[in-house]
Amino acid sequence: MEIIRTLTSETLREQIINGGLLIVVILFGILLIRGIIKEVRTRERMENLAEELATANARLHMLDQQKTEFVSIASHQLRTPLTAIKGYSSMLLEGSFGQIAQEKMREAIDRIFDSSQRLVVIVNDLLNVSRIEHGRMKYDFNTFDMRQTAETVINETRPLIEKKGLIFNAVITNDNYKITADSGKLSQVIYNLLDNAIKYTPQGSISFEMKKNQKGNLLMSIKDTGIGIPKTEIGKLFKKFSRAKDAARTSTTGTGLGLYIVDKIIQAHKGRIWAESDGKGKGSAFYVEVPMNVL
Ligand code: ADP
Repeated sequence: MEIIRTLTSETLREQIINGGLLIVVILFGILLIRGIIKEVRTRERMENLAEELATANARLHMLDQQKTEFVSIASHQLRTPLTAIKGYSSMLLEGSFGQIAQEKMREAIDRIFDSSQRLVVIVNDLLNVSRIEHGRMKYDFNTFDMRQTAETVINETRPLIEKKGLIFNAVITNDNYKITADSGKLSQVIYNLLDNAIKYTPQGSISFEMKKNQKGNLLMSIKDTGIGIPKTEIGKLFKKFSRAKDAARTSTTGTGLGLYIVDKIIQAHKGRIWAESDGKGKGSAFYVEVPMNVL
């Protein structure tokens, strides 16, 4: 259009104005085309990057699955020999193969038994984490008496607490504890919290309390006079592989998985778990609140 107008202009003035306009239009056109080319190239690059990212993501996902699968298979493989070690050392201690000749031998077998028990806990934790990550953690909700469940764990744990020279107090208030939940998983929660209390309490006492709170929910607390937890670390304890700074000094065997699993179990029960401590050396308290009927 502008070309035709420039060529057909009659006066010089018109020709200059139209010629100027033509140059502006051409420049504008060039800029526009360059902009479009640039945009097309950027889009192409973005598309390539997105494709690469998707491939890398898929590969990472696959690697992650393989890792979890590996942990799961390795843990399953470890379980069988471990059960044999634990079983035979336990039978030796009970005298099933005759009297143990010397006290030193008893101590050695005792250590084998304790270590195998710890390994069982670690292997089970690893298996549980891989189940949680695959969404394969199974829950079996039934109606049962929570008092019985708690008492069973308490009776099993009491000897371990007393063996360490700690005082143990357990109080269960006189309430009705008929609950709909997963009994095995709630046992695991209490066992885990008591086990931690034992691990992180060099001296003093441990107490367990179970009651119903004002909301009618089940409320359990496990308190100890142990190493305590620095305020800055309390929030992190329920994360995977998380251990407070001083934990390894008191207990070298921890993996930092126990509370992560416990938290997931309590979440599946629509409950909550939290920790309180006045700080380092001031003891710790763990609280678990669960509704009486999760369904
Ligand atoms: P771990 O195998 O390390 O015990 P957990 O997930 O059970 O893993 O606990 C995570 C961390 O929380 C521990 O490493 C420790 O730092 C802290 N913790 C748990 N229970 C107690 C407790 N009773 N007293 C002090 N610290 C605790």
